[in-house]
Amino acid sequence: MRSFPIFVSFEGKPPLVVGGGELAAIKARLLLKRAPVVDIAAADMVAELKSLAEAGLVVLLPPRPGIDQLRGRPLVISATEDAEEDTRVSAMARALGVPVNVPDQPDLCSFALPAIVDRGDVMVAIGTSAAAPVLAQRLRAWLERELHPRLDSLAKFAAEYRAPVASKVPAGPTRRRFWERVFDGKPAKAVLAGNDREAHRLIGEAIEEAALALPQEGRVLLVGGGPGDPELLTMKAVRALKAADVIFYDRLVGAGVLELARREAVMISVGKAKGEHSVPQDKINALMIERAQAGETVVRLKGGDPLIFGRGGEELDALRAAGIAVEIIPGITAGLAAAASIQIPLTHRDVSHTVTFVSGHGLGGTEPDFDHLDLAALAGGQNTLLVYMGVTTAGDVARKLLDAGWKATLPVIAVENASRDNERRISTTLTELAEHPEELGLTSPAVLIFGEVAGLAAAGVVEDILSLREVRRVYA
Ligand code: SAH
Repeated sequence: MRSFPIFVSFEGKPPLVVGGGELAAIKARLLLKRAPVVDIAAADMVAELKSLAEAGLVVLLPPRPGIDQLRGRPLVISATEDAEEDTRVSAMARALGVPVNVPDQPDLCSFALPAIVDRGDVMVAIGTSAAAPVLAQRLRAWLERELHPRLDSLAKFAAEYRAPVASKVPAGPTRRRFWERVFDGKPAKAVLAGNDREAHRLIGEAIEEAALALPQEGRVLLVGGGPGDPELLTMKAVRALKAADVIFYDRLVGAGVLELARREAVMISVGKAKGEHSVPQDKINALMIERAQAGETVVRLKGGDPLIFGRGGEELDALRAAGIAVEIIPGITAGLAAAASIQIPLTHRDVSHTVTFVSGHGLGGTEPDFDHLDLAALAGGQNTLLVYMGVTTAGDVARKLLDAGWKATLPVIAVENASRDNERRISTTLTELAEHPEELGLTSPAVLIFGEVAGLAAAGVVEDILSLREVRRVYA
């Protein structure tokens, strides 16, 4: 069962543990990490529970609790170690809508107890939907090592300054950045080092500074989202995603990449796909400028690299004209991801000395717009042609190359959805592609790689070799 984590308040009625044995004692001890008092419904209690009762932390109630004992509880744990009684308690609690847990009986539970890393006000709860408790324990051990033991002091320190900061530092991006600087900078270091006086002095200074500062200048970060796999993002791109107030993203940006965005960021899809410009470029520019002028950190997230077939140039012009500060964070363009995936070099001392990035989709039309390219000059070989946006025009592209005198047997590889789970690679030749483009069954997005280097893919890397028979005949 997949579940959703929450943190439960124990401010009203105490939580109830049914049962007074060892298992009940373990659960009571766990709850007492946060609950001021735990009620126990049992005929008798083990020594540990008795001593907790003497200390006023546990209150003994009669065994076999009924509806009135369960109603209004923040949660109930039935640990009687008697299957029949646990089942009865579980059913009653569920009927009342009271969250219930029976240790090691997932079927009787409406909630699970997480593995916990406890740093006072800072608490990390780990769950694996009961799939792998050992994994949860290992994660806990790792977090125990990673999380500073004084994290609680840092949370308390921040809580103490919440009101003063709110009254002096303007809300919105300015205040958020203030806190980022506190947590990333010297004040937090001082707290964690136990140097409280220094920490108070530093945050006091920072508040005065932020209060006097001019309203935060907005900016636009033009970020390359890479080909899809989030691990192909740069660290700067991840940082930008975490700092964004608003993110304008294209359809080609991978889902895993979007997941890395700051949770509070406003996500706006401007869905650029071929033939479907859901938000016109002018509108995108205007929206970005408006947000940046309001002092926000705007991320313009594009697939691949923002400056390759991404209309990054047009956006830059508009932003510069409006006097907006711009930063560009490059990304891995689809062609490079495709080459890496099929393990071929794009340049090679023996077979290719240049790489040409070209769009298979003409300006506004469907015909590839190759007029600006001297295809005949490139026909001598020693060149690699990377065709973007060429899914529907792949055949036309191949025919134009043949007409310009390119070698009929030239290897071609198409890589669809490079770096994504559904990546597909198809290998063919120039003639094959010119004559039977439909046989590749290509879907967007895909890049086509034309050149001798395409023949260098290691065995087994390109799996779907089209018309193997035909390729053999051509090479024979
Ligand atoms: N700025 C992008 C390109 C945008 S144009 C970049 O640098 O990659 C859109 C074209 O990019 C698509 O038609 C396709 O040719 C290519 N493309 C983008 N992502 C791709 C992917 N994951 N796999 C293959 N091709 C991709």
